[in-house]
Amino acid sequence: MKNSHPKKERTFVAIKPDGIQRSLIGEIISRFERVGLKLVATKMLVPTAEFVEAHYTLDPEWRRITGEKNIKSYVDRGEKPWTTDPYEVTERVLKNLKDYMTSGPVIAMVWEGAHVVELVRKLVGSTEPRKSDVGTIRGDFVLDSYMMGDTDGRAIRNLIHASGSPDEAEKEIKHWFTEKELINYRLVQEEILYDVNLDGILE
Ligand code: GDP
Ligand code: MG
Repeated sequence: MKNSHPKKERTFVAIKPDGIQRSLIGEIISRFERVGLKLVATKMLVPTAEFVEAHYTLDPEWRRITGEKNIKSYVDRGEKPWTTDPYEVTERVLKNLKDYMTSGPVIAMVWEGAHVVELVRKLVGSTEPRKSDVGTIRGDFVLDSYMMGDTDGRAIRNLIHASGSPDEAEKEIKHWFTEKELINYRLVQEEILYDVNLDGILE
């Protein structure tokens, strides 16, 4: 994917079980469509716990980073973390994530377009819905917080997963889809979004 045109960038997005249960499939897809992105793969499935763990640990640093972030979120709200070992924290986060992600169907998708990784993260909003801006998908449709998730011993319900970087996207797309499931095709609107000349509009 490197060295290709920015319009060819791809990202992985999953509508999590709460997004399906909230009947937000159409709403979420329409937000990506209306900005000009192209859907190049999709399927509905109930992932296994092993598959979910493999997804979150594609980045070998994820356990440490997530544990440290979690501990910091306790400290930031003036609470004492239950342990100072980031790996121990992440084991608990991961167990909750597996329960959450295997609780029902999810919709896996690959979206393509200019700067898509950054653009989709912007449209989705920050990971913790409490912090997501109004106008983002999470800011508009969900009200969860780490504090509430930690209090109730569950993962935060934030409707969607979206890759955090082009490298992460490449790994996640490979994890969820085979090469054959990714469809290369042209959308008519790409002529207006990307073509250098707008010849042929006037009759
Ligand atoms: P993303 O890249 O925005 O999806 O977020 P991360 O990769 O950092 O985290 C993935 C998931 O781990 C989130 O959706 C949360 O469920 C969970 N998680 C991450 N950080 C924290 C945290 O500080 N506290 C809690 N309780 N869960 C977290
Ligand atoms: Mg992430």
